[in-house]
Amino acid sequence: MQNETLRPEATPSALSNFSPVVDPGKMHHAPGTLVDKYGRRITYVRLSITDRCDFRCTYCMSEEMTFLPRHEVMSLEECLRVASVFVGLGVSKLRITGGEPLVRKEAMWLIERLGALPGLDNLVMTTNGSQLTRYAAPLKAAGVKRINISLDTLKADRFKSITRIGDLSKVIKGIEAAQAAGFKRTKLNAVMMRGINDDEFVDLVQFAVDRELDISFIEEMPLGDIHGRNGTYISSEENRELLAHRFELIPSSEDSGGPARYWRIPGSESRIGFISPHSHNFCDTCNRVRITAKGELYPCLGQNDALHLLPTLREFPDDDAPLRQAIMDSMGIKPFGHDFTQQMDAPQVVRFMSMTGG
Ligand code: SAM
Ligand code: SF4
Repeated sequence: MQNETLRPEATPSALSNFSPVVDPGKMHHAPGTLVDKYGRRITYVRLSITDRCDFRCTYCMSEEMTFLPRHEVMSLEECLRVASVFVGLGVSKLRITGGEPLVRKEAMWLIERLGALPGLDNLVMTTNGSQLTRYAAPLKAAGVKRINISLDTLKADRFKSITRIGDLSKVIKGIEAAQAAGFKRTKLNAVMMRGINDDEFVDLVQFAVDRELDISFIEEMPLGDIHGRNGTYISSEENRELLAHRFELIPSSEDSGGPARYWRIPGSESRIGFISPHSHNFCDTCNRVRITAKGELYPCLGQNDALHLLPTLREFPDDDAPLRQAIMDSMGIKPFGHDFTQQMDAPQVVRFMSMTGG
């Protein structure tokens, strides 16, 4: 990609030398596509465009977060270059995430260009919903196909305490704005937490059913050094048992290309998903990698190995070949899987979810 896409104020600068955390002896790839050493084809990238957020969810961030200095964050042009190179390597699905992607200044500049990338069939976003009254229609116009919106509770005071600063009514209006803008199959994401929102799982499903939304429940993951997590873990299985008292849940073989396993309620279009990194490991079919706002390529959400793309991006601002090669080489460090345990208080992965992008 050439620099004609540069925004006027953008200033690509040279950083340090290229320092991939990769053992050259382990590099494996098929030319032109991304296939890891276990034969898994990578077609899906989750791109975090900021580590910042207008919420401070207790399971995701600590109360006093230090955010990255601006020069350490990929510019929007750099995000676009990275995405374009992945698409050139056969990636067809890209999820924009964060932090909160919609608090990134000029995020729409990037999203409009991603929406126009030939070969990128499925541009999607995960958001906390707080900015959707403003952005739902432009996102739809830019070609975003689907939106996931995080929602752990329907109670305003509880919402405030989980997010530390969030306003539930804004998010509900954001969900409505997404639907009014024409987004279909909008999905709610709820992190399951014992003693915090487990009395609302039925209500959350009912909310989704009433509004023709999908909903996925996520098992809490031990990312980042956050205290007070122990004891809050609930398995998908336990939630399903809870829900079964109220709803008839029929297992479905549907696959949204992600790690969720789905159930249906007869008479409803809503899909009830469960993302179970602890209790139902989905690593064997993993088709994705994650890019942080700093340009680190994490082949696995649950491991600490990464490849740093930012130095390459900045050392070769007009030549994508080294970046492409670095991405292909990253296939050599994609591990078979994560090994999260249910010991939630000790972080098994040192970075916060807001860094990696959920
Ligand atoms: N800010 C956006 C949002 O909240 O949807 C996008 C980024 S957020 C990191 C992406 C997803 O990760 C959210 O659905 C959030 O609930 C989930 N998440 C964050 N920390 C988590 C944790 N420790 N365990 C499980 N899911 C987590
Ligand atoms: Fe922000 Fe999303 Fe993390 Fe909550 S889960 S603090 S909304 S990045």
